[in-house]
Amino acid sequence: MMDAGKSGRLTVVGLGPGPADWVTPAAHEAVAGASHILGYDAYVARLSPRADQAVVATGNRVELDRASEALALAAAGHRVVMVSGGDPGVFAMAAAVFEAIEAGPLAWRALDVRVEPGVTAMLAAASRIGAPLGHDFCAISLSDNLKPWEVIARRLTLAAQADFVIALYNPASKARPEQIGRAFAVVREVQAADTVVVLARAVGRPDEDITVTTLAGAASQLIDMRTLVLIGSGATRTLARADGAVWVYTPRFVKA
Ligand code: SAH
Repeated sequence: MMDAGKSGRLTVVGLGPGPADWVTPAAHEAVAGASHILGYDAYVARLSPRADQAVVATGNRVELDRASEALALAAAGHRVVMVSGGDPGVFAMAAAVFEAIEAGPLAWRALDVRVEPGVTAMLAAASRIGAPLGHDFCAISLSDNLKPWEVIARRLTLAAQADFVIALYNPASKARPEQIGRAFAVVREVQAADTVVVLARAVGRPDEDITVTTLAGAASQLIDMRTLVLIGSGATRTLARADGAVWVYTPRFVKA
C-alpha cells in the first residue's frame, strides 16, 4: 500500500473532440503516467491502455460518484487519470471533481489534483468554418438536467441582447428533441431572422457535417447530441468562396 496523499494524484484530462492529433502532448503524458484510467468506454477506447494500467469502467454512475471514486483512488496513493471529451472543464468532469472535493473529507484538499486542457467542441467547430468566434461570445449548455429551462431561456435572451455569438452545447437529446427549437425561438425574438447559424455535427469524426444556415432556416432535425450550434451575433457574416461554399467569420471591430 502506497503512502496516502504522498504519491497519489488525480489528473482530469481532456481528449479533444475526436482526432488523435487534437490531443495535447501534456494530456498524452498524463495518460501514459497513470496507474488507473477512469472514463466512459468510448473515451478509454481512444487511449489503448497498457496491460499495467487499470481501466475503471465508470458506466452511467452519476458524475459526483465517479469523481468521488477517482478521488478515493488518488487518496489511496494511485496515479489516477479521469478522461473527458473536449476540454474537461467545459460542461464536463473537472467541475464535478471540485464539487466532490468540497463535499468530501478534508484530506482530499491535500491531494495533487490537476486539470489538463483540451480542444473544446466550440473551438473545433469554429475552426472548420472560418472564425465565427472572432469577437465576443458565450457558451450555454441546453441540458436541463442541472438547471431549469427558465434559467436557460433567460441566459439566451440576455446573450442575444448583448449581441454575443452564442455557442450551444448539448443542444438536443432523445429525451428533449424539442428544446433546440425553443432556444432558436427565444433568440429570434431579439436577433434578426437572417442571423448566421452554424450546425457543426461530429466535428473531427468520419461523419462530420457542417451546415451554414440562418436563425429562420435552422431545422432542428439536423441537430442531435453530437452537434455544436453556433448562433452568430449581428456582425457575424458569411464570405463566399471561389467554389461556392462559404466561410463564416465575426469581424474584430464593433461600432459604438
Ligand atoms: N467537454 C466537452 C463538452 C461536453 S458537453 C467539450 O469541451 O467539448 C457535450 C456536448 O459537446 C455535445 O452535446 C455537443 O454539443 C458538444 N460536442 C462534443 N464533441 C463534439 C464534436 N466532436 N462535434 C460537435 N459537437 C461536439
